[in-house]
Amino acid sequence: MNEKRDIYLDNSATTRVFPEVAALMNEIFLEDYGNPSSMHHRGVTAERRLVQARKTLAGILKVKEKNLYFTSCGTESDNLAIIGGALAAQRRGRHLITTRIEHPAVLESMKYLEAQGFEVTRLGVDRDGLVSPEAVAAAVRPDTVLVSVMHTNNEIGSVQPVEEIGQAVKRANPQTLFHVDAVQGFCKDLILPKKMHIDLLAASGHKIHGPKGIGLLYVADGVRLEPLMHGGGQQGGMRSGTENVPGIAGMALAAQMLCGNLEADREKLSAMKQRLIALLAQIPDVEFNGRTDETAAPHILSVRIRGVRAEVMLHALEDKGIYVSSGSACSSNHPRPSETLAAIGTPSAEMDNSIRLSLSVMNTMEEMDVTAQAIAELIPFLRKFVRR
Ligand code: PLP
Repeated sequence: MNEKRDIYLDNSATTRVFPEVAALMNEIFLEDYGNPSSMHHRGVTAERRLVQARKTLAGILKVKEKNLYFTSCGTESDNLAIIGGALAAQRRGRHLITTRIEHPAVLESMKYLEAQGFEVTRLGVDRDGLVSPEAVAAAVRPDTVLVSVMHTNNEIGSVQPVEEIGQAVKRANPQTLFHVDAVQGFCKDLILPKKMHIDLLAASGHKIHGPKGIGLLYVADGVRLEPLMHGGGQQGGMRSGTENVPGIAGMALAAQMLCGNLEADREKLSAMKQRLIALLAQIPDVEFNGRTDETAAPHILSVRIRGVRAEVMLHALEDKGIYVSSGSACSSNHPRPSETLAAIGTPSAEMDNSIRLSLSVMNTMEEMDVTAQAIAELIPFLRKFVRR
């Protein structure tokens, strides 16, 4: 394996941890390893790490520290927000709204609630993968307890007009909770829950060069959630379980490093993405799913190649040390048609032809050139292979 040659373009699946984050976590594993609930010195120093991380993350989101909860991943944050929020509010109503392009962490939570007797409205999107605030407002009813709309789509990078949707939800029914899955948007975009009328916001450490195994949930003042974990009563009883101190501190440092440089990083990511688009657009039979302009996420590009199956392209690129994913990495373990690609109207014959290139600040412009060239060279060869 030649580590140097590898081009990692699967950053929406997961990212490489920043060395500074790994160093901090190592220090905590070895030095501040106490249980933050313990009353002795080791517990107190671990607790200090938690307090510091909470402060950092609260500062980034411009919210109060007490409104943040730590979970084990983005999936758990989404589950706690949606299932916990719906169960706590069910006396007010049993209607929920979401979109057809959410991550399985949201879609499966909704399905679970449906099986418990809740009614779910799933809104469609336009060809760009965008939800209209008017459609959301029209779907809200007096018995709607929660609306869940993602910030950045993990497959095609569409970025929803979250603030307008939040406004529309609150205008239609001030009691309806607004949940946003911001796992792909956190630290790529400025997300301010209070300004955007967000009651519940989910984020994950491993998408931002932090560690795996740590998630964040913002819960607005006055919002009640039914806890999903029962035990020692940590985090005010909302999420029992000993806090993952190294993970929490690692996530906070990663977020601080990215958010301290948000504008410059966005420019760098956008420039690399636009370079890829310009080079790939010259290849016949290559199209892009969703928007390619600056209104889409700066780090996600979904490329549809007529006549070439995504999985075949993925492995051919892998042979050249270039790592991408087919559709979304989360669904590639369990092959099934992508809900997002279907929702934006991808022809059924082309459902298997999309690869996702997802960038990070660790990538370089040169890697974009090498990748585009590799794709251009592989297409005629792989198409012949498919047409046998
Ligand atoms: N939501 C979105 C939009 C995602 O892309 C992902 C992961 O890919 C998740 C939720 C789940 O996050 P985690 O892997 O931390 O459980």
